[in-house]
Amino acid sequence: MSSNALKDTKKLQVSFVSQASDKDTCPKKNITTDHISKKTTADEISERTFQDVSLCYQCGKCSAGCPVRYYMDIAPNKVVRLIQLGFYEDALKSDTPWLCAGCLTCSTRCPKGFDLAKFMDAVREIALERGVDVSQKNILKFHEAFLDQIRMHGRSYEAGLVAEYKMKTLDLFQDIDSAPGMYLKGKLNILPHNIKDRKGIKSIFKKTKLKKT
Ligand code: SF4
Ligand code: SF4
Repeated sequence: MSSNALKDTKKLQVSFVSQASDKDTCPKKNITTDHISKKTTADEISERTFQDVSLCYQCGKCSAGCPVRYYMDIAPNKVVRLIQLGFYEDALKSDTPWLCAGCLTCSTRCPKGFDLAKFMDAVREIALERGVDVSQKNILKFHEAFLDQIRMHGRSYEAGLVAEYKMKTLDLFQDIDSAPGMYLKGKLNILPHNIKDRKGIKSIFKKTKLKKT
C-alpha cells in the first residue's frame, strides 16, 4: 500500500470512530466512550457467539445467497460491518436480524467460517435486552409463540403455534387457505406429540433465564 493510501485509510478509520454511536456516548463532549469501556457491543457479540466479529472481511457472499435479502433493510454482511465499526444502534434497530430465517445458508457459504446466523441470534438477544423497539413486531410474536410450544411440549406443535400466533397478532385469516393442504399432508397435527422429558426442557428454559417479553 502506498504511503498516501495508508494515510487515507487511517483518516477513514478515525472518521468511523468519531461517527460511531452507542448508548455509551458522553453527553457533554458528544464523543463515544465505548472504546474505553470494558466491553463493547462487538465484544459482547463475539463472546456470545464464540467467534470474533472482525473475522468477517466483507466479501458479501453471505448476502448474495440469502433467500430473504430482498425483504431486509440492510444486507446481512452490512449488519456485521455496522457492528465492526461501532454503529451499534443502527445494527440493533435494523429489520434484518428479525427477518433472518436462520436458514444457515450464509454460515455454510462463508469463506472465513463466520457463523452469521449465530451472529443474528446474538443481535436479536441484545436488542431485546436493551429494550430496542423492534419494528417487526409480528416476527417477535412468532418467536414467542414458537418458544412457548417448545417450553410446553418439548418440540414444535404447529397447530398450537398457529393458534397462539393468531391470538397474539389478531390476524386470524392470514394463510388460512393453506391449512387444509397442510393437514392432509400430515404437517398439521391436531394433537401435540409431547416428548418424554418435558421437565428437562423446562429446566433448560429456567437455566437460560429465558423470559417472556
Ligand atoms: S460471507 Fe463471511 S466473510 Fe463474507 S461478508 Fe459474509 S460473513 Fe463476512
Ligand atoms: S441465516 Fe439469515 S442471514 Fe443467513 S442466509 Fe439465512 S436468512 Fe439470510
